[in-house]
Amino acid sequence: MKTLIIGAGPAGLSAAYHSACEGNEVILIERNEKAGRKLYITGKGRCNVTNNCNNEDIIKNVISNPKFLYSSLSSFSSKDTIEYFETHNVKLVTERGNRVFPASYHASDITKALVEGCLEKGVKIIYREKANKITLVNGLFEVIASENRYLVDNLVIATGGLSYPTTGSTGDGYKFAKEFGHTICELVPGLSAIKLKENIPYKLNKMLFKNVKIIVNDEKWKHEEFGDIMFDSNTLDGPISLTVSSLINRRKKENIHLELDLKPALDEEKLDDRLLREISKNASHNIFYLLKQIMPIDFIPWFLEKCPLDSYKKCGDMSVSERKTLIRTIKHFPLTYDGLVDIKRAIVTSGGINVKEINAKTMESKIVPNLYFAGEVIDVDALTGGFNIQIALSTGALVGKTIKSKI
Ligand SMILES: Cc1cc2nc3c(=O)[nH]c(=O)nc-3n(C[C@H](O)[C@H](O)[C@H](O)COP(=O)(O)OP(=O)(O)OC[C@H]3O[C@@H](n4cnc5c(N)ncnc54)[C@H](O)[C@@H]3O)c2cc1C
Repeated sequence: MKTLIIGAGPAGLSAAYHSACEGNEVILIERNEKAGRKLYITGKGRCNVTNNCNNEDIIKNVISNPKFLYSSLSSFSSKDTIEYFETHNVKLVTERGNRVFPASYHASDITKALVEGCLEKGVKIIYREKANKITLVNGLFEVIASENRYLVDNLVIATGGLSYPTTGSTGDGYKFAKEFGHTICELVPGLSAIKLKENIPYKLNKMLFKNVKIIVNDEKWKHEEFGDIMFDSNTLDGPISLTVSSLINRRKKENIHLELDLKPALDEEKLDDRLLREISKNASHNIFYLLKQIMPIDFIPWFLEKCPLDSYKKCGDMSVSERKTLIRTIKHFPLTYDGLVDIKRAIVTSGGINVKEINAKTMESKIVPNLYFAGEVIDVDALTGGFNIQIALSTGALVGKTIKSKI
């Protein structure tokens, strides 16, 4: 049986390797001049290739359709990922939050090991070969690509999502799937920066705010996320805002309320005690001086725009109601949500091929026999931590193993 795989990202490479492992004749076509172009930029060039945890914990970090992934994770878990790379001479290290990286911190080692695994098993990889048109001819798939025409028994679409299109992931898989009768769930940015309506002072650009809390809610739902944020050109960025973006990307923009708790370790009572101590110590200083003790100096002018206090007033002259206003603004610093940045700048694409139309135990289309999907092109996405690459590797592996079992 001849199998053609479109896309040499982690999903396509994994599908190719596992399918070839059992003696399948596998051709992998990639539009770029090399494999895994997106992989090179993952984890800031270090590639957080998986998360060293059990399948239940991986599932907890999946945002869209977690249950759909049970079979693929059982067929190829993060332990299998670690074993694969270690047996392919890539030493790995596990860091904070169980994030696994190559010890060299070179994402290229990950791509190299995936490509070498495929070549060892006899996969034919053809670069600069873009799939343009696919049709069914007498039960076989005819794929017209830039250079060649292929006629194959099994077809795997592993073309990735829509984000960072310069890496080659331009959404072709959605078009192919649609032509075969599949529905595409709305494509929205996942793990992206959050746009704010406010004009953020340029001095705050790229400044890291450690240990704050984002509080986000709409009419029916509320979520709090604790960690680090960064303001960047009128967006809210940084680890916890990426998480929040994936939780709000399908919610109505107009209903989303965002605020920051700048001192989450102190409840209002403890914060009041702290302020009273600072005030009694600095009674003759002004409020600006007091604020300097509790927040970065460059943040104060913007803070005061949202907290109507006279910063020249002496601390000792502050009224109880002014102190309460100060506490409220520190604990509920309001931000005005203006949607997410363009999907091209998102780390992942949320949405994709409807999982209801894919057999979760095989990754085969329920509409067209012998048509398979793997990776980000499917409507699955997860939080940061190595989970998205693991999903690509697991769904790819399940495809490869399934095709084998059908011979
Ligand atoms: C900046 C950034 C950092 C990231 N960091 C991490 C991280 O550290 N850990 C993590 O788990 N995830 C990370 N991700 C997400 C992760 O990279 C993706 O989820 C993962 O690469 C998806 O794998 P895939 O194989 O499904 O798709 P892709 O990696 O997008 O691969 C798809 C391939 O298909 C090819 N292709 C597309 N159309 C065609 C066509 N018509 N013909 C031929 N070839 C085609 C593309 O050129 C591409 O090579 C990051 C993403 C970005 C953008």
